[in-house]
Amino acid sequence: MPELPEVQLVVDDLKTIEGYTIESISLSDRIKLSHRQGKMAVVKHENLQQFEQSLIGQKINTIERRGKYIVMQLTNPINDKVVIAHLGMSGRFEINTNRVSSIPHTHTTFELNYETKTVYLHYIDPRRFGELRVLDHINEFKPFQQMAPEPFGIEGEAYFIDRFKQFKLNRSTISIKQFIMDAENVVGCGNIYANEALFICRIHPLRKVHVLTERKMRELYKEIVKLFIKSIERGGSSIHSYVHMDGEIGSMQDEFLIYQKKLCPICQKKVTSRRINQRNSFYCTNCQK
Ligand SMILES: [Zn+2]
Repeated sequence: MPELPEVQLVVDDLKTIEGYTIESISLSDRIKLSHRQGKMAVVKHENLQQFEQSLIGQKINTIERRGKYIVMQLTNPINDKVVIAHLGMSGRFEINTNRVSSIPHTHTTFELNYETKTVYLHYIDPRRFGELRVLDHINEFKPFQQMAPEPFGIEGEAYFIDRFKQFKLNRSTISIKQFIMDAENVVGCGNIYANEALFICRIHPLRKVHVLTERKMRELYKEIVKLFIKSIERGGSSIHSYVHMDGEIGSMQDEFLIYQKKLCPICQKKVTSRRINQRNSFYCTNCQK
């Protein structure tokens, strides 16, 4: 699943279509079928026709990231819209000049115009856990209302520590891994970066949040941010499905210390691999307490 660094890289690539206007939209048969069955795969809008109509004629003003979401601010003379996209487990975008994508599992294609240029933005998603939604205003999107600040400013750390203090006060029994994977505490930290940051800080993933110290929590927060920055510099991690729009793959996976490793790089003992909250956790019981 793409985490903050990978989503940031997607957004950086998508910025080339800022200023383009949406001329038309086409949806895969799979999406149409899913909507007829009431499942609403990928396009989180009950009425597909309304979804298309609300986007046609809109100009893409800006494309930004918020947490693990991609936010496209659209504008037209009558009513501005915002598209919020999430890549789910296996979603990705591709921009090219092919009206019909040759890539399997292409579910949505946006025809985009800028002056005399026409390009196509394809959304590809084999597992269809991704989400595309269109709203009148960004504030309507519930997950953003409770989301922690972006992690690259001072604000993020202060917020993280405040949340930690609340959990400590309430003697919360949730694990540290659960805590850091919750966007209400820190945004963009998914399973891979959570495993890595906990290993670097020598914290056992099942350790209860309330027993940790503020100092340790600050150290952990800083490690998460450092991992994000390092990963963006290395083009993200290309485990599972993530590849750049130009087909290049990132190299952050080469930097992993514990994720999917067999032996601990510190003590050489066997790495424990266990499902915690439906996600694979990798840790060293000797080094992480
Ligand atoms: Zn170890």
